[in-house]
Amino acid sequence: MIRAMSERCLFCDIVAGEVPATVIRNSEHVLSFLDINPQAPTHVLVVPKAHHVDVGSLAADNPELLGEVVREAARVADNAGLADRGWRLVFNVGPDAGQTVLHIHGHILGGRGLAWPPG
Ligand code: AMP
Ligand code: ZN
Repeated sequence: MIRAMSERCLFCDIVAGEVPATVIRNSEHVLSFLDINPQAPTHVLVVPKAHHVDVGSLAADNPELLGEVVREAARVADNAGLADRGWRLVFNVGPDAGQTVLHIHGHILGGRGLAWPPG
């Protein structure tokens, strides 16, 4: 089921402070917090505070906000010391990609060699 923009979800609850998370950065419109099940030494989720389902719908509805999500991801990676060695930003979309939370989130991954293509 596609959620409407106004619906709440787990990441809306984290943004609202109603579910605990380890916050890494908090800008006006974007929150970055540690993934609860890290897949790399650095694994941070970067989310717009407003509920949008996935990267495609955010790009269509508010491309400026998507730009801020990506800028915040780069700041998180820089602050984690990843600027020189590199890092990955992943947006899973839909079931084949394994998107489990229907609130757009970028996975910032780094701190180890990241094989390509991913499994
Ligand atoms: P995806 O599979 O792309 O939808 O990613 C969802 C991510 O959210 C997974 O990597 C989970 O480990 C992560 N996650 C689920 N619940 C929480 C939570 N309460 N706090 C932080 N990360 C979470
Ligand atoms: Zn949400």
